[in-house]
Amino acid sequence: MSDEEVIVEYVYEYWDCPKCGSKGIRGDIRQCGSCGNPRDNDIVFYRKAEEELISDKKMAEELASGADWSCSFCETLNSHLSKQCRSCGNIRDTSDLNYFEIQKQKSKKQSSEQKLLKLNKFIKRILIGALTGLGTCTIALGSFICWGVQNHDVKYKVLSAHWEREILVDRYQQLSKEDWKDSLKGDDIQILSENNEVRKYESRQIGTKIESYTDSESYQSGTTRECSTSYSSTGSGASKKTTSCSTVPVYSTRNVQRTRTVPVYKNFPVYDTKVKYHANEYAFFQSHKTSGDDNQPKWADFSLGEGLKNKPDKENSRKEKYQVKIKKVEAEDKGPVEADYQVKNADRFSNVFKIGKIVVLKVSNFDALQKDEDE
Ligand SMILES: [Zn+2]
Ligand SMILES: [Zn+2]
Repeated sequence: MSDEEVIVEYVYEYWDCPKCGSKGIRGDIRQCGSCGNPRDNDIVFYRKAEEELISDKKMAEELASGADWSCSFCETLNSHLSKQCRSCGNIRDTSDLNYFEIQKQKSKKQSSEQKLLKLNKFIKRILIGALTGLGTCTIALGSFICWGVQNHDVKYKVLSAHWEREILVDRYQQLSKEDWKDSLKGDDIQILSENNEVRKYESRQIGTKIESYTDSESYQSGTTRECSTSYSSTGSGASKKTTSCSTVPVYSTRNVQRTRTVPVYKNFPVYDTKVKYHANEYAFFQSHKTSGDDNQPKWADFSLGEGLKNKPDKENSRKEKYQVKIKKVEAEDKGPVEADYQVKNADRFSNVFKIGKIVVLKVSNFDALQKDEDE
């Protein structure tokens, strides 16, 4: 954006003495005030949250001139402007590393060490996770299943029995029916009457109309000044602080009324022919029921007749139901004292649930009788 302004300043960095533990020594100081140790390869420059501008122009120029160089003989860090080590007098050589190159070397060594450490931790975690995870999971699941689904065997006495059976028979016969003309069913159809009726409604567009609605739009409501600050270390105890400011637009949203054309629909009835008719079809004719209060269920004894055009009757389906009244034998057992109990099939009803006999049934922890199953 327009209106850009860039301000460059220098702020002090700090370092800690690794020999005596003295903290926050300002970047323009080259020797620890407590123990006299010169700053060397072991130190790291850092900024403080509360920064101090370098107001002395000469000092700013010196600390901005370049990174400290490391003496290859005694590892002391020296000013970019001096040609001789301040500790041992060694003359600077073109192969001497500077502060940044020393840091890079240190971090390379560190990161390869860290990688190894991380890998070790990772493997350990997987092993421990696998062991404890599996363990608790099985234990938790195991005990839950044991508790939730455990059934008790409880003795019951059969007090009484009741069975019901039914056979449904269809016969070919003439029926009075009513359907839409395209879906008549049956044989020998005789139409009695036809009538025009509404079968469904269809929505059709009959025109358009203009309606108004509220929309929101974005617009520039003003401007604001935005600044960003970045730091870069000089490698000699200072940071170059660059502040860039520019004017940027501010946007807001507002409601506006607009109009649009929309279709208008109307429902129209669709007519079709409804037919009253006679037709021949198999349909329910009669049911043959039997029932009893013993353990010997029987199907009704009957013979199939015939319907229209000598077509034989057809058995449609059979229904059966077997039920006993039971009473718990041991009062202290789980389960209801007395119950009406559905028996699964005729075979079990006749052979297992005989009146007066004792049966062993499954009862859950929640006192519920379980459904009758084959053994
Ligand atoms: Zn010190
Ligand atoms: Zn030296």
